[in-house]
Amino acid sequence: MIANLDLLESKAKRDALVERTLRWWDDHRRTLPWRAVPGRRPEPYYVWLSEILLQQTTVPAAAPYYLKFIAKWPTVERLAQATADDLIAEFAGLGYYARARNLHACAKEIAANGGRFPADEADLASLPGVGPYTAAAISAIAFGRRAAPVDGNIARILARLVALEQPVRHARRAVSSLARALAPDERAGDFAQALMDIGAMICRPREPKCAACPLQKDCLAFGRGTPEAYPRRTDAMAKPERRGAVFFATRADGAFLARRRPPKGLLASTVELPGTSWTAAGPGRSWAAAAPMAAAWRKIPGAVRQSFTHFSLRLTVYAGGFEDDGPDGCFWVHPDAVDAIGFSNIMRKAVRHALELS
Ligand code: SF4
Repeated sequence: MIANLDLLESKAKRDALVERTLRWWDDHRRTLPWRAVPGRRPEPYYVWLSEILLQQTTVPAAAPYYLKFIAKWPTVERLAQATADDLIAEFAGLGYYARARNLHACAKEIAANGGRFPADEADLASLPGVGPYTAAAISAIAFGRRAAPVDGNIARILARLVALEQPVRHARRAVSSLARALAPDERAGDFAQALMDIGAMICRPREPKCAACPLQKDCLAFGRGTPEAYPRRTDAMAKPERRGAVFFATRADGAFLARRRPPKGLLASTVELPGTSWTAAGPGRSWAAAAPMAAAWRKIPGAVRQSFTHFSLRLTVYAGGFEDDGPDGCFWVHPDAVDAIGFSNIMRKAVRHALELS
C-alpha cells in the first residue's frame, strides 16, 4: 500500500519535486570520473563502462579500474579489439570473470554496429551483460531518454518518499511505476543521477540527512518522523538476524573450494563454501580477516539471505583467487557440479551470487 497518493496523482507536485531535485543536483552533484562535466553530452561508452563496473563494486573501488580501462581502451572499438584474456587480466583485481566476458562480447557487438550504442532501453537490455537497471541508466544518462533506473538506493528513497507499507521486494511494480511517473521528459538522466547522489550522500539506510534533502517537502516518511522505518522489512528480516561471511576461492580453471558441514546440527552434512561462524554480533573485525584461509579477498556487493525457523541469515560473500588445497576438509568443486553434490539452499544461493558477480 502506498500512502502518499497525492504525489502519485498530482503532476504539478511531481514536476515541482523534480525541479527542486534538479536544482539541488546542479549545486551538489558528485564529481565522478565517468560523468560528463555540466553542459557536455555524456559519452555512452563511459556511461556503459561505469555502470557495468558499478554493478559489482562501489564508486571508490570502481574509479581506478575505470580510469585504467579508459587509458588502455579509449573507445569501444579499441576495447573490442582486445582479447577476452586482456580484459580478464584487467579485471583480475575485481575478480569478475563472467562480467569481463560479457563486457568483451558487448564491446564487439557495439563495434560491429559502427561503435554506436543503441539509445533505446529495450535495445540496450538485449546486449550481453546489460540488465534492465543498466539499460535504463544508460538510456537516461547517455541519451537523455525518459527512463527510470531503480537500484537498491533509489528504491529506498522512493519507499521513504511515499511511505511504502510493503517491503520493496513485494512491491517492485509499484516502485517502478513511481520511478517512471517521476522521470521527467527533459533531463531524465540528470534526475536519475540526482537520485543516485541523494541515495549515496543523503538518504542513507541509517541516519538519513533529511535536513539537507531536496525531497524533504514531499517525503512522507520524513513527515511522519520515521524515515528509518522505511523501506519496510519483510517478516523474514524482522526475525533476529545472524550474520556471517563465506569465501568463494577460485583457481584458474574456475573450480572453487567447498567443504562439508558436520554430520550433526543445522544443515548437517550439506556442502558449503568455507566461511565464518554465524553470529548476531557480526564481525568484531572485518569478515575478510576472519576467513578460514588467507587470500586477497574482495567483497562481492550485496548479500545472500535465508530465513530459518528462529533467525534470518545474512551472508556476505567474498571472492578471491586461490591455488593451494585449502584448509583440511576442503575440496575443489567445478561450477557445473553445484547442483549434484549436496549444497544447501543458502550455499547454492551464495555460489550463484559469486558466479554471477565474479
Ligand atoms: S527526506 Fe529524508 S527520508 Fe525522505 S528522501 Fe530525503 S533523506 Fe530520505
